[in-house]
Amino acid sequence: MQCPIATQDQKANDKNKSEAESKAEDDEYKCGNCARFIQTPDMIECIVAGLPEEMQDIVDDDDIGYCARWDFRCSEDYACDRWLAGGPVKGMTEKHKIMLKMARMMEDE
Ligand code: SF4
Repeated sequence: MQCPIATQDQKANDKNKSEAESKAEDDEYKCGNCARFIQTPDMIECIVAGLPEEMQDIVDDDDIGYCARWDFRCSEDYACDRWLAGGPVKGMTEKHKIMLKMARMMEDE
């Protein structure tokens, strides 16, 4: 898998994260249960590889993921107003990829 740029480039990550304004106040709607929160083994590997060395050993794989809506490294406790039911994504299927692409296209219209 080719790692998303934001997993390897802190500036790109921070810029994308700033787009994902957290307006959600309900604890039920967090990245940790969002259908756009990607926690596949490949993605976790990318995220960990992009972290500073001193953080690579202490990061908890269950707490981190990649936001497929805003393209940034994300923690399970974060949230935004684009939350989608059905996550986290532990295994990416073609069906799921298509669903994410369609959801994003509809929002961008
Ligand atoms: S879309 Fe929002 S709630 Fe979902 S993973 Fe991204 S930042 Fe988190």
